[in-house]
Amino acid sequence: MLSPPGAGKGTHSKWLTLQTGAAHISSGDLLRAEVARGSDLGRQVAAYTARGDLVPDELIFSVLAPAVVAAARDTGGYVLDGFPRTMPQALRAAQFGADLALTSNAVIYLTAPEEELVSRLLDRARREGRADDTLSVIRHRLAVFEKETAPLVDYYRGRGILLELSTDRPEAEVQADLLARLQARGLMTPGAGSSGNHAGNQPRDDQLSVAPGLD
Ligand code: ADP
Repeated sequence: MLSPPGAGKGTHSKWLTLQTGAAHISSGDLLRAEVARGSDLGRQVAAYTARGDLVPDELIFSVLAPAVVAAARDTGGYVLDGFPRTMPQALRAAQFGADLALTSNAVIYLTAPEEELVSRLLDRARREGRADDTLSVIRHRLAVFEKETAPLVDYYRGRGILLELSTDRPEAEVQADLLARLQARGLMTPGAGSSGNHAGNQPRDDQLSVAPGLD
């Protein structure tokens, strides 16, 4: 799941994991858990996330790789939310995937107008009080997305696995569209999505992961 901050990758990743039975692996959640633990690693992470800068690639791999390996083993599939976020991460993920025979089925790119992103994040700040949801840090995260992450859109489009969706419309519409696009690619069974859980839509062995980067 690839998107600028505020476009809905958390929301739609969670929804997709309910539909598929895949694991939800959120790089931001894993990093925030590390910060909350107050470990040395957590303190290093907080120095970057509080400013809205990306944490170094080495660090993100050390946090993420064990979760990916466990999900591939235990559930067979995963939705990667917020990773990869730089071209070096994408290239290294591709190598990691090739080494472990993990397949990327789709990269879901969510978009919304910039002012809508800012207003959603400020709303979230009021509800959840996330440390990096202040106006100046939000603007910086959006700039970091444009510089570091936006090039991944063309990379995955070139590989033929990019699904681009606007989230500037009701959530149910986005989900119906996403489901239809995944079904059209044979990644989900027709009929899935109405029950709100993954019963009857267990991923097949050869269609296990809906994940960016790892192939
Ligand atoms: P958002 O997309 O709204 O900024 P996330 O929860 O995905 O929220 O990420 C929060 C922060 O965690 C980012 O601003 C960045 O500092 C760090 N982060 C998350 N994923 C990565 C990643 N793949 N590489 C480097 N830093 C990351």
